[in-house]
Amino acid sequence: MACSKFQYVKHFEQPHDLLKNTFIVVRIDGKGFSKFTNAHGFEKPNDDRGIELMNCAALSLMKAFTEIIIGYGQSDEYSFVLKKSATTYSRREDKILSTMVSHFTSAYIFNWCKFFPDQELEYPPTFDARIILYPTIENLMDYLSWRQADCHVNNLYNTTFWLLVHNNSDEDKTSQEKQAQAHEDLKGTFSKDKHEIMHKFGVNYNNEKDIYRRGSILVRQWNATQLNKQAKKEKKRKSKEEEKKEETKEEKQDITTKKKPEIIQDKEKSVI
Ligand code: ATP
Ligand code: ATP
Ligand code: MG
Ligand code: MG
Ligand code: MG
Ligand code: MG
Repeated sequence: MACSKFQYVKHFEQPHDLLKNTFIVVRIDGKGFSKFTNAHGFEKPNDDRGIELMNCAALSLMKAFTEIIIGYGQSDEYSFVLKKSATTYSRREDKILSTMVSHFTSAYIFNWCKFFPDQELEYPPTFDARIILYPTIENLMDYLSWRQADCHVNNLYNTTFWLLVHNNSDEDKTSQEKQAQAHEDLKGTFSKDKHEIMHKFGVNYNNEKDIYRRGSILVRQWNATQLNKQAKKEKKRKSKEEEKKEETKEEKQDITTKKKPEIIQDKEKSVI
């Protein structure tokens, strides 16, 4: 009784199903990680432990969500690509987004002590997330290229920035002041100028680790048995879809013949 009286509130929920036949991209980004990385003694510009922890959380997510085909990570963000035919949570946006960002966050915290054994978590890190749909493989590749270009631009800036800070020997200046100075020095510089500054400090950017310059990529690879299983599943799904298509075709044909008798008549007339 009580249940039926209140059940109407369920209808206030507004489900949103993601468009079929599109790549689902979920991008997760650390909230306030400039502050978080400072508060937890991350090495600047690139702390390997931090990168490995992000990759570990991403791997855990990809194990839990088997329809993710690619993961791409850089800095405090990770993008996950679900295949076009994904049916996870019947493609319900709120379910996919909330469980994925929740899983990623808890995996990050769960594995923290493996990568930072000497650094306690001062407060719980959080991540935000969004979903973007891409209809074509070209769009998807451009999306990944865009995130990788972002990685490159930021890393070029950060590497030069921290070189300037770490090599600033002015003892009267606090670290904050040195950082403000470095930002000032880099204002209006182009990538060529940054390469020159690095060169002065004996750093060749091209020798920086790939993982810093390009980010991390995780790609799902299937073994032969899994591929066979998938092919069978796909075949079954397609034949079901074909069946449905045939049904709707028949229905459509019915409608057309019933709705356009005039046109048929006209045609007949013109033939005559
Ligand atoms: P928002 O909440 O808007 O995302 P944010 O402070 O997280 O704010 P981002 O643009 O996401 O801003 O920047 C991420 C920050 O985290 C940068 O300052 C970056 O240098 C730092 N960071 C991320 N990963 C690492 C790492 N492995 N080592 C050192 N610093 C890192
Ligand atoms: P779903 O992912 O669909 O939500 P679920 O297993 O979480 O699946 P729920 O309907 O959310 O299903 O049920 C929550 C389950 O957790 C129940 O089995 C409930 O008994 C158990 N549970 C939650 N809190 C407690 C608790 N404090 N003590 C004992 N059991 C609990
Ligand atoms: Mg953000
Ligand atoms: Mg962030
Ligand atoms: Mg970020
Ligand atoms: Mg539950």
